[in-house]
Amino acid sequence: MRRMLSFVTVISWLLAQLSGASVAAQPRPDAARGAGASAPAGVDLAALDRTVEPCTDFYQFACGGWIAKHPLPPDRRSFGRFAELQERNFEILRRVLEAPPADASADGRKASEFYAACMDDAAIERKGLAPVGPDLAMLDAWRNPDDLPVVVAHLHEIGVPAFFRFGSQTDRTDSTKQIAVADQGGLGLPDRDFYLKDDERSRDIRAKYAKHVERVFTLAGESPADAAEHAHAVVALETALAEASLDRVRRREPANTYHRLVLADFQSRYSPAFDWKKYATAADAPKFQVLNVTVPDFFRALNTLVETAPLEQVKAYLRWHVLNAAAELLPKGFADADFEFFKQTLEGQQQREPRWRWCVSETDRRMGEALGKAFVDATFSAQAKADTLKMVQDIKGAMRQDIDGLPWMGGETKKAALVKLDAVVDRIGYPDTWRDYSAVKIAKDDALGNQQRAIAYERERTLKKINEPVDRGEWGMTPPTVNAYYSPDRNNINFPAGILRPPFYRAGRDAAVNYGAVGAVIGHELTHGFDDQGRKFDGQGNLRDWWTAADATAFEERATCLANQYSAYTVAGDTRVNGRLTLGENTADNGGMRLALMAYLNGPGARSKDRVDGFGPEQRVFLGWAQVWCENARPEAERLKALTNPHSSNKYRVNGPLGNMPEFAKAFECKANAPMVRPQTCRVW
Ligand SMILES: [Zn+2]
Repeated sequence: MRRMLSFVTVISWLLAQLSGASVAAQPRPDAARGAGASAPAGVDLAALDRTVEPCTDFYQFACGGWIAKHPLPPDRRSFGRFAELQERNFEILRRVLEAPPADASADGRKASEFYAACMDDAAIERKGLAPVGPDLAMLDAWRNPDDLPVVVAHLHEIGVPAFFRFGSQTDRTDSTKQIAVADQGGLGLPDRDFYLKDDERSRDIRAKYAKHVERVFTLAGESPADAAEHAHAVVALETALAEASLDRVRRREPANTYHRLVLADFQSRYSPAFDWKKYATAADAPKFQVLNVTVPDFFRALNTLVETAPLEQVKAYLRWHVLNAAAELLPKGFADADFEFFKQTLEGQQQREPRWRWCVSETDRRMGEALGKAFVDATFSAQAKADTLKMVQDIKGAMRQDIDGLPWMGGETKKAALVKLDAVVDRIGYPDTWRDYSAVKIAKDDALGNQQRAIAYERERTLKKINEPVDRGEWGMTPPTVNAYYSPDRNNINFPAGILRPPFYRAGRDAAVNYGAVGAVIGHELTHGFDDQGRKFDGQGNLRDWWTAADATAFEERATCLANQYSAYTVAGDTRVNGRLTLGENTADNGGMRLALMAYLNGPGARSKDRVDGFGPEQRVFLGWAQVWCENARPEAERLKALTNPHSSNKYRVNGPLGNMPEFAKAFECKANAPMVRPQTCRVW
């Protein structure tokens, strides 16, 4: 579901992957208006809700007009400014894919063929279950339990997430090298808690999940009795995996998912029943002596499962995952069932998205760099690159000043923090070298086969990195992506061309709004190097403690203040934000907003006190930030996000940081008892 720079690396994103859904294809006036030359010059006045005081609920003040004018289309779980821009980017890709230019590269043409096969639903319908036939037959014919590692290796190669994840990652204590990694996995539901929690909603989702698995088995030709029995076996097996899985909050601590083990020890101590050499040989992985076993207890539990689960149960589980992974590219019955459970029940979406939108997104996911150049040529200007670079420099300068002035941090840690800050590498737009897809075979009427071959190619690329030096030129996002990230093991910040467009940035627009929007995004990513997770890594990307004990304690106290602040927020009426799960992102939002304001006031804002559109300079910086977060979302999607997503709900990404800033209260002349003025403010950076 998410692209990763490398396997199970700790990566901090600006937001989780956008929901795959799409707006209806007809143009929407406001979305179109944001698109190009007629985009708002600065603050989007039409997005405001002036019936609400800025000091009462700034998110509503900044976004209420937009929210009212953009009711959720039935084919969306959520829709906001990020999704609006992603839609525009996808429309550019769609044009390129449907009519590749005469001078398109071989890879570009290949991406077009991938897209065309994905769009050919008549061929998909005609083929029925044939595309998964060989894999189902392989499972059916399998008799010897000792061959499980070979079976799993094959399924991993084609993207079936069976039992666990295996790949390569930067070694956390030697960031120049890559090592093999085995991580927990193998669940069908989006979080372990769905299997373990006993509240009514979790039980209900669990029951509906079992029904869904049963329905898919029936569609695949099983008798109703067999399908029900097998579905029960699948949920029981996944529940055992869930029980052994580390939860998301504990996974945020990098040391909790780093256990460098000698392969032979791992084999004998944790996993005697599963032959790892057999797995590695079948996976065609280079020979390795050590690996990171992220969660050793998970593999101990997996070992028990391998020893005790009946072969029929394991087969049912693997059959389910083969069908589940292929659902979108199987006949309509499967795709409908998949939609009804995963999108409708879990996230509240009412209708399937248009096919073109899913296929563009899928092409971007599997062969994104084959498309990247065309997107960059169509959208990304030298001006955008230069302006962004300038803002990055200004914001780094602001962070230097911020660190210097911190009252709670001692001189020794400050010095080390500045060394790390100076080592941050910034990358803007797109990679220097494009990934080569010449080894991927694309066939005209074989949508699922294309997907599996593209996944197998990416997996081969990942496995080949084991024992190799880290390639620091690689990107973890494709150029059309509306997102950004910080990578702690490389200590770099990354801004794809796709986000350097309105409403985030526009050449020549009011600088206050550019700094508040994309400037704060830059500050957000930079702050990730110093959040509760990022601070555990040094400037070279190694997991190393560079803090004095007293400063680490002072940091934790301040972070706890933020965790408590956000834990008091609720979404969808009844679900609490998890302040510990979202701590890194909230720290980054708070730091990013402060750095953007500082950089603006040090730079363009120092020269101008003008009011524009009735707003002063600081006010426009705050509005710039708030207005990129305008969004509507379904309650189901909000609840799922609160449970699984490290980012807070958009409303709190605006009101949370601004409530902590006296600069905000001053800019809008808020009374001391106004709702937007928190009686006790939290501040880390
Ligand atoms: Zn982030």
